[in-house]
Amino acid sequence: AKVLVNDQLIERTEAVIDIEDRGYQFGDGVYEVIRIYDGMAFTADEHLDRFFHSAEKIKMEMPFDKQQMLQFIEQLIKENNLQDGSIYMQVTRGATARNHLFPGKDIKPVLTAYTKEVARPEEKLENGVKAMVTEDIRWLRCDIKSLNLLPNVLAKQEAKEQDCYEAILHRNGTVTEGSSSNAYIIKDGKIITHPATNLILNGITRQVILQLCQANQIPVAEEEFHLDDLKTADEIFVSSTTSEVMPIVQLDGQSIGDGKPGPLTKKLQSLFLEKIEEVKTQ
Ligand code: PMP
Repeated sequence: AKVLVNDQLIERTEAVIDIEDRGYQFGDGVYEVIRIYDGMAFTADEHLDRFFHSAEKIKMEMPFDKQQMLQFIEQLIKENNLQDGSIYMQVTRGATARNHLFPGKDIKPVLTAYTKEVARPEEKLENGVKAMVTEDIRWLRCDIKSLNLLPNVLAKQEAKEQDCYEAILHRNGTVTEGSSSNAYIIKDGKIITHPATNLILNGITRQVILQLCQANQIPVAEEEFHLDDLKTADEIFVSSTTSEVMPIVQLDGQSIGDGKPGPLTKKLQSLFLEKIEEVKTQ
C-alpha cells in the first residue's frame, strides 16, 4: 500500500518516522479520519476545516494548504484503489531533540496519511449495539482532535471488557459524548445532544445529523442532559465517521425502549444513507 509522508507517496514499508517525533513523544499533534464511499471522500471539506482549526488551536502551522491536502486525499484513494474505507491523516509538530518547548521555525511539522479498507457496519446499524457509562476523565479541550487519546483508549477498553461497543462519558453526571463518538438521546420525539463546547469534539457526522434534522423538521436541541435522562431515554444513538448513526439498544445492561433500534434513530439512518448516496453520485 502507498502511504503519504509529508508530500511523498511511498510504500508503507519504506515509511520512516523519527524516534523523537513529537507526536510519538508528547502526542503533540492533531489528526482526522475521513470516510470514503465508492471512492469518494465524504465531507472532506468539513474534515479538513476541522483539521486546520485543531492545528490552529495548538498553535501549530500546517505544512500544506487545504487544496494540497485535498489533492493528497485524491492521490491516496487512486494509488490504493480505495473504494470503501477511510483515510487517517495526522500532523505532528515535527522531530527534534526532546524538549517540551515548541521547536524553532527550522523544524517542520510531519504529515502522515494512509488508507484503510472498511465496510459499513451493517449488522450493527441494523440491530443496534450495547453501551456502558463511565466517567469523562479527559482534559478541558476536547474540541481539539488531538493525538492524546489515552482517556478515550481506557474508556473504550472498559467498554470492550463489558461486551459493549461504546463507552458513553459523563462529567459530574452531565453526558458529554462517547469515547470515539457523539452521543444523543431521544425523548418524546426530540433529539438532544451536548452543545459544541470545549467539552466535546464537534463531530462532522454530528453536524450532518443536525443539518438533516433541520431540513426534515425533526426537533433537535443542543443542550446538556444528564445520566437519568440517558437511562430513561426513549432512544439513544451515537455517531461518528465510521459508526454513522449507531443505535444503542442496551445501556449498562438495561434495555433502552424495547431493546431494538427506535423509529427516529432509523429515520435518521435512512436520511444519512440518502446523504451518502448523494455524495456517491456527485
Ligand atoms: N467524539 C470523539 C471523542 C471522537 O473521537 C469522534 C470520532 N473521531 C467523534 C466524536 C465523532 O466525530 P466525527 O463524526 O467527525 O467522526
